[in-house]
This record gives sequence, structure tokens and C-alpha cells, in this order.
Amino acid sequence: MLLKVRDLRVYYDTVAGVVKAVDGVSLSVERGEIVGLAGESGSGKTTMARAIMRLLPSNARIVSGEIVLDGVDVLSLSESELKDFRWKKVSMVFQGAMNALNPVLRVGEQIAEVLVEKAGYDKRRAWSRVEELFKLVGIDPSRTRDYPHEFSGGMRQRAVIAMAIALNPDLVIADEPVTALDVVVQSKILDLLKRLRDELGISVLLITHDLSVIAEACDRTAIMYAGRIVEYGSTEEVFEEPLHPYTRALISAFPSITGERRSFEPIKGDPPNMLNLPPGCAFHPRCPKAFDKCSKEVPELKEVKGRLVACHLWG
Ligand code: SF4
Repeated sequence: MLLKVRDLRVYYDTVAGVVKAVDGVSLSVERGEIVGLAGESGSGKTTMARAIMRLLPSNARIVSGEIVLDGVDVLSLSESELKDFRWKKVSMVFQGAMNALNPVLRVGEQIAEVLVEKAGYDKRRAWSRVEELFKLVGIDPSRTRDYPHEFSGGMRQRAVIAMAIALNPDLVIADEPVTALDVVVQSKILDLLKRLRDELGISVLLITHDLSVIAEACDRTAIMYAGRIVEYGSTEEVFEEPLHPYTRALISAFPSITGERRSFEPIKGDPPNMLNLPPGCAFHPRCPKAFDKCSKEVPELKEVKGRLVACHLWG
């Protein structure tokens, strides 16, 4: 196993109170696997990713839990050890990163900078690695000296992925990597991630609110709601027979992934206020299947039909 997160709790101290953004999450990623982490915005996905990178904002606290990546206890790394850990063991494609490339620096130069600063490459070796990376992600290496504005959105996203894999990390965390791209480009970027998994053995933790992205690219899927994982299993099984009412609602809220014609229904109600979560199952005010016990007891994540589900229906 490459990544193991166990019972992780990350809380934010805010002026309005404590936000339990991640509240007892366990998750694993195998080598060469793409795991999707899905849920509405505010469900704790990005906080999870930032905790793995140890890149949380100053008002965040890791209250408890364990993160182990390739045998390394991530939560015990010192600041200087973290410098080596990031980029070389794990890297992140941040949400909107393709629009955050420095507009006055050539794209290749920005990737070369990472190689020089983080791994001590000399400039010549760095540029030759940049060309290699461009080829790997499907950009003509003659474009290394272009500026970001000379690239299409899809090319900029490929360049950002090239930067993320520059130092051969074991794990790439991609936060909404295809949001804001058109569907054809989205599909090409997802194909690229799958190719990198197959050819380089890179594992990917893919964070998205879009279930069609998960269905297209991920081997396993974890569904998050209000800081907890509510369903976790093979993507095929989760989509074929969603067991948690929230997973079912999420799937119905997207146009059919298989192309079959059906009406899609938005999920009723709003995501919960994280400062004041409903008692019991946090989904109960929106759940069409809720019954008495749901507003009283928090459902534990339990094995059901070969996957994990947190719902009293599967008691
Ligand atoms: Fe719905 Fe109850 Fe299951 Fe929560 S525990 S998802 S409210 S049935």
C-alpha cells in the first residue's frame, strides 16, 4: 500500500467556532491506482489533500490520526524533511493551477525552476528534463519556450501536470484537474492521468465534485459528506449499485455517465453548515430514506457487500 490515512481529524479554528472539516477519515491508495474523492464543495476533500501534503492554513489543526506514505509517517516530518517530501514523494496539482502559471515566465522555465530549486539540477539538465516531460504529457517539446498565454487551457493543464511529475513522485494529488475545461479536453487530461499511472506507476488521488470524472478515471471511489467518508469501494460497484443514499443522490444529480437518457435530479436541500452539523447522520435532513435512528446516532463506516458504507440502512 502506498498511502494510508487512518482516522484523520482536521479542525479549523474560526471566529464563529470550530469547523470539523475532516472528522475521522480513513483512506488508502495502492501503488499505480487512481482513487477518486468526491462530494459537494465544503465536504472536506481539499482539506484532506492539504493535510497529506502538510500544507494546511495556519488556523487548521490536525487533531488526531495518522498519514503514512511509502512507510513515511507524514505527520512527524520536520519542516526541512517536508521540503524533500513534497515534489519527490507527493506533489499536488492545485485547483486552478493552470491559470496560476506566471504569465511573464516561459512555461518550460517555470518547470526548470522546480528541478533546479528542489532537486539541484544544473540548468542544462533541467531543460533537457523539461523537454522529456513535455513529451511525456503530450506537448511538442519545441513549445518549452512559449509563454502561458500561447498555450490553450488543455496545454496549460498538461504543463502543470508535467511540473507535478517532474521529480517522479509516488503520488500526485489532483484537485479538480479538469474543472473549467471543455468535455473533449477533460477526457484527454483524464486519459493522460491514466497513461501516467500505467507507464510510470504513479498513483493519483483525484479530487472532484464531478462524478463523471470519477467514473471515467478512477479505480476506487470515496464519497465524502460533511467531513466523513460515507461510501468507499470499487468505482464500478459504487456506480452500478450505490448503497448510500447520498451516493445515489449524487449520481442522480449528474447527467447519465453511460450515455443512457434519463432525467437528472438535483440533491434536495443545501450542504450542512459545518459550524453546526445536524445530530446523528449529517445527511439526515436531506435524506429520502431517513428514519428515527438517523437523527440520533452517527452511522459508523461498515463493510457492506465488499465495500464500506456509513448508513443505518445497512445496520
Ligand atoms: Fe439516510 Fe439514515 Fe442512512 Fe443517513 S443513516 S444516509 S439519514 S438512511
